[in-house]
Amino acid sequence: MRRYRYRCPVCLTTSPTVHHPAEIADEAAGHRQALHGGHHPDGESAGEIDGLGRWYASLGPLAALHARIADNLADIKDPKGMGHPWSASAGAALILAAAAALVVGVIAAAL
Ligand SMILES: [Zn+2]
Repeated sequence: MRRYRYRCPVCLTTSPTVHHPAEIADEAAGHRQALHGGHHPDGESAGEIDGLGRWYASLGPLAALHARIADNLADIKDPKGMGHPWSASAGAALILAAAAALVVGVIAAAL
């Protein structure tokens, strides 16, 4: 389950988490209309967050991949929840380590 938030840097507020892109567009439009007369505040942002509330766009590639895997593992137990149980984070790290070991093994076998 994907998670999205809208952030207004003028009001210093962040929207509640929603689960569909259309909902975050509605949230942003409602905020702009109610508090800014329909204008777009400079620096506003909307996007996908991970289960820990971090913006995917601000994560590096490896951290984003780890977060995506950990989100999917955590969603097995609680699809709309926030946070990562330790087992989801550890499972994601194990999957990434196994994939890296597989790549190293294939490269070593090819040489
Ligand atoms: Zn605002």
